[in-house]
Amino acid sequence: MKCEMIRDLLPLYIDGLTSEESNKEIEKHLKSCKECQLYYKEMTGEIQSPARISDEELKDVELIKKVKRKNRRKFIVSLTGGILAAVILLALIFSRTNSSAKFEDVQMDYGVRGDKAYLTLESQPGYELWISGGVSGNDSNLKILSVREIGGTRKDRMSWEDEIGTEDDPCRWTIEFRDKIIVIENGILVEEENIE
Ligand SMILES: [Zn+2]
Repeated sequence: MKCEMIRDLLPLYIDGLTSEESNKEIEKHLKSCKECQLYYKEMTGEIQSPARISDEELKDVELIKKVKRKNRRKFIVSLTGGILAAVILLALIFSRTNSSAKFEDVQMDYGVRGDKAYLTLESQPGYELWISGGVSGNDSNLKILSVREIGGTRKDRMSWEDEIGTEDDPCRWTIEFRDKIIVIENGILVEEENIE
């Protein structure tokens, strides 16, 4: 018998509806034909047919992937938010505990070079200067926020240089420390005020 015929008969054979003679033929064929044997076993549930993924399941897989991607994006967003919050918190702590540095923490040098006034601020070796401030016209207001230890022997050095102004409109630098305010006009110290 041909495989096709056998396979047509298999459902009937399994239900016991085929004749004795047919049964013999079918059994003989099954013994010699591996493919039909496999087919038969699959029909009786003796072996599982290789899992074929349905469209429905494929959609599910896609959905899972999407959800995973979404979760990853959520994770990155929350991670970035966390880092930002930590930085802001650190900045707050830093600005509160180190509102400004002391006069003695910073070496100051100033004077006149040619037609220009200069100012140099230098830290102790292994320290870093944090300065804020702005310039308006000839007026510069520098606030020494902090002197922070960073290790090593390097000095942190900052320099300013500006053209000497007139008596009415001098080149003026105001340097604010925690305990002192210094005013330099045209490279000359004109005011020194202790605070605290
Ligand atoms: Zn066969």
